Parts: sequence; C-alpha cells; structure tokens
Amino acid sequence: MCLLSVIVPCYNEEENVPLFYEALLQNRPFFEEKKISLEILYVDDGSGDRTVEEIRKLRDEDQRVHLIAFSRNFGKESAMFAGLENCNGDYVVMMDVDLQDPPSLLPEMFSYIEKGYDSVATRRVSRKGEPPVRSFFARMFYRLMKKISRTEIMDGARDYRLMTRQMVDAILSMREYNRFTKGIFGWVGFRTKWLEYENVERAKGETKWNFWKLFLYSLDGITAFSTAPLMLASVMGVFFCVVAFAMILFIIVRKLIFGDPVSGWPSLVCIILMTSGVQFFCTGILGQYLAKTYMEVKRRPLYLVKERF
Ligand code: UDP
Ligand code: MG
Repeated sequence: MCLLSVIVPCYNEEENVPLFYEALLQNRPFFEEKKISLEILYVDDGSGDRTVEEIRKLRDEDQRVHLIAFSRNFGKESAMFAGLENCNGDYVVMMDVDLQDPPSLLPEMFSYIEKGYDSVATRRVSRKGEPPVRSFFARMFYRLMKKISRTEIMDGARDYRLMTRQMVDAILSMREYNRFTKGIFGWVGFRTKWLEYENVERAKGETKWNFWKLFLYSLDGITAFSTAPLMLASVMGVFFCVVAFAMILFIIVRKLIFGDPVSGWPSLVCIILMTSGVQFFCTGILGQYLAKTYMEVKRRPLYLVKERF
C-alpha cells in the first residue's frame, strides 16, 4: 500500500473542481491494481467564486478530499508550496484543476517511478491554441535562461510532475520567498524523466495569465536563478572605458594633424544620451535584485490559511 497525494491549486475554478475530480478517478482501476490510496488536496488560492463550496460538496461524499483555503490570492507558486508542505503522500503529484494536465498520464508516469526515477515531469511540445506572440516570447525566455542560468529550465515544462517523498522534502527545504518552481525543480536535481504531450486547452473558464503577468513572472525567474544581469554594468563600464580611451587618442591625433579640436556637438549629445541610458538601465537591474532581496529579508509567510479540512 502507498499513499499518493494529488495537489491541485485552484483560483476561481468552480466549474472545473468537480470535472477534475471525475477525471482523476477515471484512473480508479489503476489505483486499485497498484494498491495506491489517494489524498486529493485542493488548495484554494483565495477564490471569489464558489470553488470552496464545490470542494466541500466533494468532501461530504469522499473523505479523501482535503482543502487548504488561503485568506487571499497568494499566487500559484504559494499554492503549490502549501500543498507540498501539507501533504502526507509517499508520492506527490501536482496538477492544474483545468484539466490541462491530463490525469490519464498518471499510469505512465508511475511506471517510470517504478523504474527508479525520482520524478516524472511533463512538457508540452506544441503551444497550440496560444497567441503566437506569447509563444514567441516564451521561447525567447527559455533560450535566454539557458544562456544565463546554470539551473536547467525546460522549454514548455509544466508544473505537472510526479515526485517521490525524498524530492518533495528537498523542495520544501528551499524556503525562499520569491519562488520560481520551474527553476526549483531543476535546482534540486534528482533523476527526472520527461514525458511529452500535445497542449490541451483548458476545460472551463479563462486563464489567469495575461501577457504583462507572464512578463513579470519571467523577470522573477531571471532574478531568482541568475545573477548574470548584474554583470551587465561591469561589462558596459569596461566597454565604454575602452571606447572613450580610443576616442581620446583619436581627438589628440586629429588636433595635432588638422588643428581643430572643437566640433561634433551632435555626436556628443548622442553619446551622453546613450551612456546615461545604459546607466539607468543598469541601476534598474540593481533595483530589481535589491527589491527581491528586500522581500526575501522580510521573511513574510508564503501564505495564510483561512480554512482547512
Ligand atoms: N492558479 C492559482 N492561483 C493563481 C492563478 C492560477 O492557484 O493566482 C491555478 C489555477 O486555478 C489553475 C493553475 O493555477 O489550476 C493554472 O492556472 P491557469 O490555467 O490560469 O494557467 P495556464 O494553464 O494558462 O498557464
Ligand atoms: Mg491552465
């Protein structure tokens, strides 16, 4: 007998909660055959709709359903962390409630755990049904991360992942406030098997992400798993020093040969604008890291619980 914890973050997903429950239990024969008992842990991320009521309805019929309800919306990263912190399973799987992470993949995922993998992760190979601009920037983000971070962050990786208790404990030992789970999974290591599948569109409702939110999220990812941008100021500094030195030589030589040192007002303006632009940009980068450090230093809790069963 082993216990499988299913962690399901929900934010305004009243329609999807029962659908997800049904879809998960389609695997009933598999669970019975493998003697897997279930713990379904819904994490309500401060929904304003009837999500909690729907979960309570499920609980009345099935004692395996559990809930942690936050006092407000803390974000999916916090919801996943709360789930990991409060589950008891020997194995833990994280899934979206909107059925974009097909529960039908579970048996295959389990077969790899039996083969000795510590974790089975999923990535979508297509981004069908997604706006092309978003796909383009997502690709750029992953390509950039590959260059500037030593942590492996997979393109198209979903948070849908089956893990052993050992890996869950490793993740829980990372107590940082700015959580970028995709990076955390890579950082802790362990043997991971990647399964690929075609993108599935969400069952009901709307995605909680818009372009701007994704952009900010990507900045979180960069600051959390790379300090390369901080190097930019030094690199630019050295570059401008070299250019300035070359120009000084050029001007001295020109004065000695042609005798006219005073010209080039427009070029001066361009140079001043450009260097001050670069300076502001670099200060901005510093500010980003400082802001993250500030939030980290405060040590605020990652989430607050309003209700649980
Ligand atoms: N979610 C959450 N808190 C949030 C936003 C989303 O718990 O602040 C949950 C949401 O209910 C869903 C999952 O995270 O189960 C993925 O969200 P969504 O489908 O909006 O993201 P996408 O699949 O488009 O990346
Ligand atoms: Mg989704």
